[in-house]
Amino acid sequence: RAAATPQYLSGLNPEQREAVETLDGPVLVLAGAGTGKTRVLTCRIAHILSQGRARPGEILSVTFTNKAAREMKLRLGQMLGQAVEGMPWLGTFHSIGGRILRTHAELVQLKSNFTVLDVDDQIRLLKQLLAADNIDDKRWPARMLAGLIDGWKNRGLTPSQVPPGEAAVFGNGRGGKLYAAYQERLKILNAADFGDLLLENIRLFREHPDVLRQYQHRFKFILVDEYQDTNVAQYLWLRLLAQAPSKPGVPLSSVIPGRIDSTVIPGRAEGTNPESGARDGDQTDRDSGFAPAGAPRNDEVNILPQPGMTAPNPPKNICCVGDDDQSIYGWRGAEVDNILRFEHDFPGAKVIRLERNYRSTGHILAAASHLIAHNEGRLGKTLRTEDVDGEKVTVTGSWDSEEEARAIGEEIEELQRAGNKLNDIAILVRASFQMREFEDRFVTLGLPYRVIGGPRFYERAEVRDALAYLRTINSPADDLAFERIVNVPKRGLGDATVQMLHDHARKRRIPLFEAARAVVETDELKPKARGSLRDLIASFDRWRAQREVTSHTELAEIVLDESGYTEMWQKDRSADAAGRLENLKELVRSMEEFENLQGFLEHISLVMDRDGGAEDDAVSLMTLHSAKGLEFDNVFLPGWEEGLFPSQRTLDEQGRAGLEEERRLAHVGITRARRRAKLYFATNRRIHGTWSTTIPSRFLDELPAPNVEITESKGGSGWGGSGGYGPSRFDNVESFGSSYSTPGWQRAQAQRARGQNGGRGGGQAGGGFNESQSPFSGSRSDTSNS
Ligand code: ATP
Ligand code: MG
Repeated sequence: RAAATPQYLSGLNPEQREAVETLDGPVLVLAGAGTGKTRVLTCRIAHILSQGRARPGEILSVTFTNKAAREMKLRLGQMLGQAVEGMPWLGTFHSIGGRILRTHAELVQLKSNFTVLDVDDQIRLLKQLLAADNIDDKRWPARMLAGLIDGWKNRGLTPSQVPPGEAAVFGNGRGGKLYAAYQERLKILNAADFGDLLLENIRLFREHPDVLRQYQHRFKFILVDEYQDTNVAQYLWLRLLAQAPSKPGVPLSSVIPGRIDSTVIPGRAEGTNPESGARDGDQTDRDSGFAPAGAPRNDEVNILPQPGMTAPNPPKNICCVGDDDQSIYGWRGAEVDNILRFEHDFPGAKVIRLERNYRSTGHILAAASHLIAHNEGRLGKTLRTEDVDGEKVTVTGSWDSEEEARAIGEEIEELQRAGNKLNDIAILVRASFQMREFEDRFVTLGLPYRVIGGPRFYERAEVRDALAYLRTINSPADDLAFERIVNVPKRGLGDATVQMLHDHARKRRIPLFEAARAVVETDELKPKARGSLRDLIASFDRWRAQREVTSHTELAEIVLDESGYTEMWQKDRSADAAGRLENLKELVRSMEEFENLQGFLEHISLVMDRDGGAEDDAVSLMTLHSAKGLEFDNVFLPGWEEGLFPSQRTLDEQGRAGLEEERRLAHVGITRARRRAKLYFATNRRIHGTWSTTIPSRFLDELPAPNVEITESKGGSGWGGSGGYGPSRFDNVESFGSSYSTPGWQRAQAQRARGQNGGRGGGQAGGGFNESQSPFSGSRSDTSNS
């Protein structure tokens, strides 16, 4: 090399460098967490540009979230040390798909200024269609249809491609027809939904080969981060773009599949939509929820050139990076397959493995590697660190989730006093309802925090609705609250009624609620609306009377129940409904900490008043799903209890495959930590006012003893002394041979920590943790030697 090595290359290890410098042909980087995959992608763009192999506008780089795209832009600027003229196409699948779609909107019957509907708009539109078709929205909820359509779009299926059997599951066989009607309506409204940004883009490419060719020509280099979580639509889109342009005149059907197979294949959420549980990466991340558990990916997915077709064009310079152990958005097998198929789909692909983890200290990496080794469906990778062992992963039990939040709050303050920035601290939860306790705690402590990848707990739509009921009870003059729920759930009091109430209220200078009381005495409303409004007013009068005789938590339950609000979500079969019900329960639970309704509502207004995320230095709070690709010095992982993590729902719905996905999620969580990973479990959770005893997560049993330290909760009572919250449930002999619930666990732990047997040669006391089976065997310093 004549010139001096450019700055951006000098820090790379040989494998990373190979991945950066192999510019021609397909490249797959298959490597574990923290090995620099994302860094390699960024360096690769810098390299392409500085080698003059392409102009910025000729590079397509796909990231998992918008946040990741921003980060990559920032890093790229730093690497190149100068402003680049123009910018690469850098963003999520949907943002880039949307951009292309706008340019050619008229080819898919849209105008370039088309609107992107949010979930609420989407539901409203579907409800209209259901009404027009006389389909009972109670029996066949619009949200369910939205979930189905979303799922179909994620799989790249246009209405005509939906397998009849699947279309039949909704509205007595009318699912497919409704999907088609919905697409038509969208066109009339000059609108697209989230899924269309990609699906309509694919249709555009299929129906207009000249447009496809234009982009195939344009994008000389394609880069994809988090490849393990791409769904079928994204995969199809990539494959179309990654082919070298075909000659005009060659029939498109020879290189582009007309349809794909009907097998249910999971979709992926992008973690960007704030309101939808289905997209904000919380516990309810499945798209449609109706797929058979662990449905295998069918090899017939007909996206490869078939025999008899003209020879496929050689794939272009595409570089995908991924980690099968971090696939957390699909059923087992699907994404692993995506990676496995890479060499098949892109002949001549170079597969590069990175084995050195630059992120985490030894104990953290060892713990994460040992945990994920319990999964069967993996490609298997070596991971090593040259970092120090650092602090052990801690496991702390506390009495309940409140104590857990208090303990974590204290530890964070301690870290802060020791000079850590709050920006270097994250709390990663399994389910969004868990955030509530931390948000309350942080407000009390005055600790700045931000919620990443979704709304804050009290800002969630269902929580706001429930609060609106309570506010209306508390203050009949609270017009905003009353208006929010007057027709939620639907009770035939639509916009026209509300407008009439407003007119009355304005004229007579009275609150909306009083206006309603007056209006029902007149015959201005149609009989049905009038009856419905009268019922609602009677309900509120009743609830206000009950307030005097029942506790405020009980009242909340009664209100949510009698108003039909809870039922609305219970009947809702969309993916995010279960998460919303959990949030409602958590809301009621949170009220227990207050004397009365008034006190509770005052607290809420204080919490809501904080402008979230404005602070420069703040603790990050997010779900494990949203934490993908991120890293923090200090990571707190609360709620490692059976049922919560692994999530009982995932286990029930998907069995073994679900368990493995939960374990990958645990692995993602631990590998976010650079210096400290702190795991917690509470031995009791209060659910709906009743205490239930919980069992520590089996994932805790699966951690390697030498790398873990059991600590007492700072919150006080703790769990340690009382010994035994139930029998050991897991016959995890490889790990410890006993669970957290027995004192024996601690003994085994202590023995191992002392290095008995050097941790090798299994079969000894405590069940023999066999170091040689460990994926990091021999490649990292063993604590027993130090
Ligand atoms: P994940 O699987 O979690 O997305 P990743 O493989 O994308 O992880 P990166 O986020 O790219 O990993 O890198 C992890 C950390 O290691 C980053 O802080 C990165 O800057 C650092 N890093 C990567 N490669 C090197 C290197 N060669 N020298 C020093 N630091 C490195
Ligand atoms: Mg990454």
